[in-house]
Amino acid sequence: MEVITMSTALMPTYKRLPVAFRRGDGAWLEDTEGRWYLDALSGIAVCGLGHAHPDVAAAIADQAQTLVHTSNLYEVPHQSRLGERLCALSGLEQVFFANSGAEANEAAIKLARLYGYHRGIEAPEIIVAENAFHGRTLGALTATGNQRAQTGFGPLPEGFVRVPYSDVDAIRAAATERTVAVFVEPIQGEGGIVVPDDDYLPALRHLCDQHGWLLMLDEVQSGVGRTGHWFAHQHADIRPDVVTLAKALANGVPIGACMAGGPAGGVLGPGSHGTTFGGNPLSSRAALAVIDAIERDGLLARAATVGERMLGRLRQALSGVRGVHEIRGRGLMIGIELDGACGQLVGQALEAGILINVTAGRVIRLLPPLTFTDEQADQLVDTLTPLIEKTAEAIADEPAELA
Ligand SMILES: *Cc1c(COP(=O)(O)O)cnc(C)c1O
Repeated sequence: MEVITMSTALMPTYKRLPVAFRRGDGAWLEDTEGRWYLDALSGIAVCGLGHAHPDVAAAIADQAQTLVHTSNLYEVPHQSRLGERLCALSGLEQVFFANSGAEANEAAIKLARLYGYHRGIEAPEIIVAENAFHGRTLGALTATGNQRAQTGFGPLPEGFVRVPYSDVDAIRAAATERTVAVFVEPIQGEGGIVVPDDDYLPALRHLCDQHGWLLMLDEVQSGVGRTGHWFAHQHADIRPDVVTLAKALANGVPIGACMAGGPAGGVLGPGSHGTTFGGNPLSSRAALAVIDAIERDGLLARAATVGERMLGRLRQALSGVRGVHEIRGRGLMIGIELDGACGQLVGQALEAGILINVTAGRVIRLLPPLTFTDEQADQLVDTLTPLIEKTAEAIADEPAELA
């Protein structure tokens, strides 16, 4: 039996589980010992089409044998086509391609600052939310509302003002004449699958219109079909000015996107921003295959339907269980919040053959592929709920000072 040891050649930035996978097939992953696991995490919302998707694999293989990279010094037809597809899906007008979520967000932050600069605002401020996650580069890290992630990395850039999430009055109170943008996730992911009030995004849109601020949404986790629409903000029927994407866009091939429209369109002009790899033929081609497959296979509807089924069955099994605080989500972005820390559930689920995640300490996070079948959803819920029940009740039984 192979014993998995952590390599000392890697910087120990991750607390890894003692398992390694050698192969994937749809919602299933096989470890190096031949055991299969049902994947309800999708590489953290990345493999939305599941693992080893035949269309994406064929697109990558063909493109790899044809042309992987040229440069943004030249026309990149696959990148142009991908930009046009994303504009058509979002109603936005322009896209800048990067290689990750953090980089997409850096582009958005720079765009907002330049937007302010063009309006004569010398030290522009971007309003961001408590509990937010936007990535690990310095700008994105500063926008992130997690002190632990920021500790030790100062001095952080200025120009960010933090307010509570899902609270429009707090934004009104925090705004100044230097405010240029509001930048939030339409559903907070790392922060614990926090779904804002239904009127939050429409109210933000209204407020930004009133004051000439950009409404910028980080859809790195919620975008590309996860919530049952292409983008989570489409549930609120609004058009933001800037939307960032990454994770699921090319099903695992690194790519990020910063999309802009309205007053944000045309802000980043020649020479104002750039990247070597962003939107190269390989990643663009993979992303085009992802969009085609989601459309052809009706995966937005699938995500909505199977998500509803899972939420319903989870609520049925866990509502009223002591220690279960709330079950919430949209489409296949689902969180089960307990009354206390429950990180140990990840290892217990692994032993039971399912891959889940716990975020924000006490929120069990489910992000299965959009291709999840009803049977897979039921298997997940049936395996997971007894584990959650046991942990939640143990939390409820703890003396208050330990909870
Ligand atoms: C994952 C994530 C990021 C960061 O993406 P990276 O590709 O890891 O840089 C940013 N925003 C949100 C909402 C995310 O979920």
